Amino acid sequence: MTTSAPASRDLYSRPAALFTDDGLDIRASSLGQCRRALWYTATEQPVTNPPDPGSMTLLEAGNALEPVVVRAMRRDGWSVSPADRDRPVSVTVVAAPGLTVTGHPDATGCPPPAGGTAAAVEQFLFGDDEPSAQTDDLVIEVKTRGPEAFKRWRTLGAERSHPESVAQAACYSLGLYGECRDVVIATLDTGSRSWDYEVIPADRAERAWRNASGRLETLVEHHALNGPDPEALPERDFAASDWQCQRCPFLNLCQPGGAGEAEDDAEPAEPVSDEQARAALREYEQAQARIKSLESDKRGSLQTLQHWLQGRGVEKARLDGSTKTRTVGIVQSRRYSVDHTRLNALLEPEQRAEVVTEQVSEYLRVS
Ligand code: SF4
Repeated sequence: MTTSAPASRDLYSRPAALFTDDGLDIRASSLGQCRRALWYTATEQPVTNPPDPGSMTLLEAGNALEPVVVRAMRRDGWSVSPADRDRPVSVTVVAAPGLTVTGHPDATGCPPPAGGTAAAVEQFLFGDDEPSAQTDDLVIEVKTRGPEAFKRWRTLGAERSHPESVAQAACYSLGLYGECRDVVIATLDTGSRSWDYEVIPADRAERAWRNASGRLETLVEHHALNGPDPEALPERDFAASDWQCQRCPFLNLCQPGGAGEAEDDAEPAEPVSDEQARAALREYEQAQARIKSLESDKRGSLQTLQHWLQGRGVEKARLDGSTKTRTVGIVQSRRYSVDHTRLNALLEPEQRAEVVTEQVSEYLRVS
C-alpha cells in the first residue's frame, strides 16, 4: 500500500526513524543510514555528537540550492514541477510487513523532448529515429555535491556512488505513481555550479529500492524480537574510522572515544613539533617559488625553439646543446575521454564496476 498527501513543512525535519503502531517508519532520505543509528533515533536516545556549525551551514546551503537546480533544468528545456516547500507532498510506502518509508519528493517532470529518459538516451546512442514513447512524469531527486563527490557520481553512476539516492527516488515513484518508473537524479556541483543528470531505468531503480528496504527488514525483525528496547542494540554497520561514524550524531554513545580514532590513525610515527612543521612549510614555499621560476624559464625557452622551428618550416631539427646534440621537435599528444552519462545509460552497475574501477590515493596539499 502506498499513500501520498500534502504534509506540513515541519515534516522535513521528522526523525530518521520512529516506531509506529505497525512497526517501524524510516525517513526516505535515511534509507542508507547505519541501522544502529536508526535504532538510537527510534528509541529517542540523546544526541551525543551534534553537527558542528560548519556542517549545518553546508547542509542548509545544499537545501537552499535545490530550487537553483530546478530553474537550471527548466532553462535547459525540462518540464519540472518542484515540491511546494511550505506544503510538500508526503509519500509513505509499505516496504515490508511492519516497515514503512516516508519522504517528500523534490520534484517530478519530464526531460526535454530531444533526450533524457532512458529510452531517449538509447535513441540518441543507437540512432533510432523512432520518437520516445515516454511522456509520463518521472520522479526527479535533486542533490547538491562538493566537487569530489560530484566527480565520483558522474564517473561511477548513482547506483554505485550514492545507491541510497536511487532507492529514495524509487520509493517516491512507488508512492506517487504506484509503480517504479525510470527516475532522474539531478546533481549540482557546488564548486563549479554546473549540473548534470542521470536517468536510472525503472528495473534498476526498483532493484536499488529492494536492496535498501531489504537491508532495513533486519531492523524490523530486531524490533519484533526485542520491542522498542534502547538497550538491545543492533550490530554496528560501520567502524569508528569510517566517515559515517565520524559524522554520526551518536558516535560517543556507540563508540566512546571513537571521535579521535580517525585522527589517531593519521598520527605520524615520529612526533613533529610545531616549529619543525613551520620550518618544513617555509622550505616548501621556497622550493615552490624556485620551481615556478624555473618552469617559467623553461616555457620561455620552449616558445623560442617552437618559433625557430616554425621559421624554418620544419617539425623536427637537430641542435647543439651545452653537452650534446639534441633533437627539437613538435610532438602531438592525443587525449581520450569517456562520456560517463552514456556509459552509465548503457551498462548495468555490475558491468560498469568491471569497466570503471576506482583507486584511492592520498597526498598532502598545501594551499
Ligand atoms: S557510530 Fe557508527 S556504528 Fe555507531 S551508530 Fe553511528 S554510524 Fe552506526
